[in-house]
Amino acid sequence: MRSLDDLRRTLLRIDRRGYKAYQEIEGRYQGNAYLLMIDQVQGDPFAAPSRVRVLLSQDQAGFPPELYPTTPRRIALQDYLIRRFAEAIHAIVEGSRGSGRSGFIGIDCGGQEVLERTACLVSEQGVEVRFVMGLPAAGRTILAHEAIAMCFENLPRIVDESLRYSRLEPRSLRRHLEVVEDQAALRAQLREQGLVAFLGNGAILPRRSGVDDRPLRGDGPMVIPLQAPSELEVTLHAPHAGAVRGMGLPAGVTLIVGGGFHGKSTLLRALERGVYPHIPGDGREQVVTLSTAVKIRAEDGRSVAGVDISPFINHLPFGKETRNFSTENAGGSTSQAANILEALEAGAELLLVDEDTSATNFMIRDERMQELVAKAQEPITPFLDKVRQLYAEHGVSTILVMGGSGDYFDVADRVIQMEAYRPLDVTDRARAIREKQPLRRLHEGGDRFGPMPARAPLASSFDPSRGRREVKIDAKGLRSLLFGRLMIDLGAVEQLVDDSQTRAIGEAIHYLAMRCFSRELTLREALDTLDRELEDKGLDILAPYPAGDLAMPRRFEIAAAINRMRSLKIAMSNEQ
Ligand code: ADP
Ligand code: MG
Repeated sequence: MRSLDDLRRTLLRIDRRGYKAYQEIEGRYQGNAYLLMIDQVQGDPFAAPSRVRVLLSQDQAGFPPELYPTTPRRIALQDYLIRRFAEAIHAIVEGSRGSGRSGFIGIDCGGQEVLERTACLVSEQGVEVRFVMGLPAAGRTILAHEAIAMCFENLPRIVDESLRYSRLEPRSLRRHLEVVEDQAALRAQLREQGLVAFLGNGAILPRRSGVDDRPLRGDGPMVIPLQAPSELEVTLHAPHAGAVRGMGLPAGVTLIVGGGFHGKSTLLRALERGVYPHIPGDGREQVVTLSTAVKIRAEDGRSVAGVDISPFINHLPFGKETRNFSTENAGGSTSQAANILEALEAGAELLLVDEDTSATNFMIRDERMQELVAKAQEPITPFLDKVRQLYAEHGVSTILVMGGSGDYFDVADRVIQMEAYRPLDVTDRARAIREKQPLRRLHEGGDRFGPMPARAPLASSFDPSRGRREVKIDAKGLRSLLFGRLMIDLGAVEQLVDDSQTRAIGEAIHYLAMRCFSRELTLREALDTLDRELEDKGLDILAPYPAGDLAMPRRFEIAAAINRMRSLKIAMSNEQ
């Protein structure tokens, strides 16, 4: 194997030559402190920067095995190292060294959530970190001395400061691992406690803004930490924090009511994000939701392919079929119905619904309207008449924000009122009101929930080619995914939190098309297969080369992307 000295010599030799000569440095170089792998060199200084890895053995890195004995702990350690690597880049790399991305060093670092990422892999063998470097040039002329400064001054310092155990701050590292491990432990206790979500006392739920996911600070408006009402207060046990008291939300149907601006949607959003662990200081470190929780909303304009939405929508005008419903342009209620049935198909066990983003006629249909518009004239069966059946027949719970209609008192197991950001258990008061003013509306939901979809997508739905490229898959930010000639709109897929998840979803669709849909597996079977493979072998199975910019998506967001592909065709559809 070549040494780092060989790299230096090659760089000096290609100095001042055309940019293409950089191709010569692709390869592996053994140094004293690490192995450097230049996997792919960019075509020109303006293109996506070159893909590089460093590998340290544990003799070099020195991370004791107790830092990564379990998956959550290993993911937390990897996440910590990525964040330190990014900090070191920020502190050490001074900026542009020429044209385009010259001099740039970057690593795929997360936000408030801790996700498994391909940017860092830790094992007994060692630590591998994947990042990118913009190889420097003036115009398109190689600047070897700048490249040497990057590889022999910047990089060794970055690695030294961030990837060697002895150099890291032990308390902050330990806190990171413990906070993440505690969240996994809290989430794992939900089921045995009969809960679907838990919010620890003291949690900070509001965020700075719609585009800034960090916690709202106390210096501006007052921030009210969460405090469980006594009726809902439970104690869970975390391996590091010990006994954690907080608000437990039981399985069943939970209604969140309260005046406008009293914090209802903020609570629900925290639950949506509670499927992921959060970093220390986030405020939601002890907010955990079942990992099978899915946010449901209306989504005008989306396409739908062969979904049986008959539990909610029937006998459309002009006899349009709803047992095998397809449209290029769904309306508010049809999109919300499709979103629910697709979530159930993918395995959702908890639905999170907010009136702010729901179609009114999907949610409610009151007594007066029933009298004026007969059931035979109304295709929609409101969620109100289905939400209990979902729980009774399928064990699927719902947490629903609904400040606008008391009709839901009749179907709720629990009613929580948000009052000035404080949750109160008002279940008994809601029950008393229900008895005092009984509903005279008719139940329109029938005896049973109805069919659950089980579709098998046609493999030919998934063509990743674009122009001369056989495979062109690319995330365009967080909520758009380019797949071949198709742009998939993920604008309403609210539990997607990281661009690198979006990228991984694109790769996952391709993987499923090649390996699962070609064998006519159902969507659910395919997602089960993928989950198992990802668990066994990690995210690297998704990419054709060692990518450093993938983060673990959930099966629900993978399904959501597939379901929003306008090319999606269903081979067959089995009722369950
Ligand atoms: P609702 O859905 O009940 O109308 P929101 O959840 O949208 O209310 O909250 C209204 C505002 O209050 C938001 O700007 C939010 O950031 C803020 N907020 C929510 N919870 C808290 C809290 N615990 N402390 C301080 N501000 C909060
Ligand atoms: Mg709201």
